[in-house]
Amino acid sequence: MPITIRRSGKTAHYLGTAALTVLLAACADTPIQQAHAEATSKPATATPVPLPPQSSAPAPAPQPTFDQWRDLFREQALAAGISAPLFDQAFAGVIPDPGILRADSSQPEFTRPVWEYLDGALSSTRISRARGLLDQHAATLAAIEQRYGVDRHVLVAIWGLESNFGSNMGDNYVIRALATLAHQGRRPDFAHAQLLAALEILERGDISPDGMLGSWAGAMGQTQFIPTTYNSHAVDFDGDNKRDIWNSSADALASAANYLRVSNWQSGHPWGAEVTLGEDFDYALADTSIRKPLAEWADLGVRNAQGGPLQLGEASQSASLLLPAGHRGPAFLVMNNFRSILRYNNSTSYALAIGLLAERLQGRGNVLAAWPTDDKPLSRTERLELQERLRAVGFDPGGVDGIIGANTRQALRQFQIALGLPADGYPSKPLLDTLRSFQ
Ligand code: CA
Repeated sequence: MPITIRRSGKTAHYLGTAALTVLLAACADTPIQQAHAEATSKPATATPVPLPPQSSAPAPAPQPTFDQWRDLFREQALAAGISAPLFDQAFAGVIPDPGILRADSSQPEFTRPVWEYLDGALSSTRISRARGLLDQHAATLAAIEQRYGVDRHVLVAIWGLESNFGSNMGDNYVIRALATLAHQGRRPDFAHAQLLAALEILERGDISPDGMLGSWAGAMGQTQFIPTTYNSHAVDFDGDNKRDIWNSSADALASAANYLRVSNWQSGHPWGAEVTLGEDFDYALADTSIRKPLAEWADLGVRNAQGGPLQLGEASQSASLLLPAGHRGPAFLVMNNFRSILRYNNSTSYALAIGLLAERLQGRGNVLAAWPTDDKPLSRTERLELQERLRAVGFDPGGVDGIIGANTRQALRQFQIALGLPADGYPSKPLLDTLRSFQ
């Protein structure tokens, strides 16, 4: 939704009007009980004859037991082409896993700061292991580069972060994990589709049930593909006719390359780079929804990390400005291939880690600017409070859910602009303190 950004100094007036709007909006937020009575009532009968079973008022549908759910799902799977023996083999002994339900419902209170995440992702142990594997698999990686056009350093970086180069793929039986989530998880439809796709993989014989291991959420093998991604993008690269992303590093690396290729990877182009911003830079431009040609960023005063001219590619190529820790931390211009990495795993910290790790493997990729390590990310409780307070002063964060999405960042920016603060949309502790001072 387009949002008008106010640049005037009419802060007090704006806050006052907006606060009134919020009070009115709050009244409309009252939860409304759903009335089921009309839908379930039956016409009165003249004689007191016993009613046939189908006309009795249905009670609210009880949660089916796991066995009931499985029997129903079995019918659907068979109708979708899964053979009965395969289904029964895959589900033999499968019972719900309470640990997976706990993982599905957990909402961590604390978020790891991006600089700590990057320290772990780019650890010296991981870099040295990656260098060894680049040598060990040089011939395979060269062949994959040639076929898919994706840089080997990026592929090895993905391999390293997804499964620690195949040594940490998750030890959950994927059918059990997805069955648990399809029966009782937060997104049963998604799990249902993944479970059907997982059974298709078993039906084709790419892997046996006892080898089908993955994360609690059903991400499988060395590339951590979910089953539908596997079905559409995994490839056999070692020529044994099985797409084995669990046991064949060639298949895993080529599958990752194939996925990036179809995610619009541009061969030979950088993911982006660290940059520096001029004085009085308009931080409201730091939003991944805003794309500008490199030439325009240069005109706005964006320079390379050392303060020299940008050298990221042709002037017409588009880029977005990323401030992972707000205006006090490092700045990056991110380009098309960064977005392809986001298609793999939709986290800017992850995509940044892949880009930097791939460069580290080539002797580059050190971030020059300092991270604001004195400003820890807000806890979930604080994020909820931040959203409540933004709403209370008239800057609608689009819901109070503890998630700093596009709407919350836009509301933060409006608030910052109204106060004449750098409008980076970053939920910092000082900003929360400023919001607290309003009530
Ligand atoms: Ca294979």
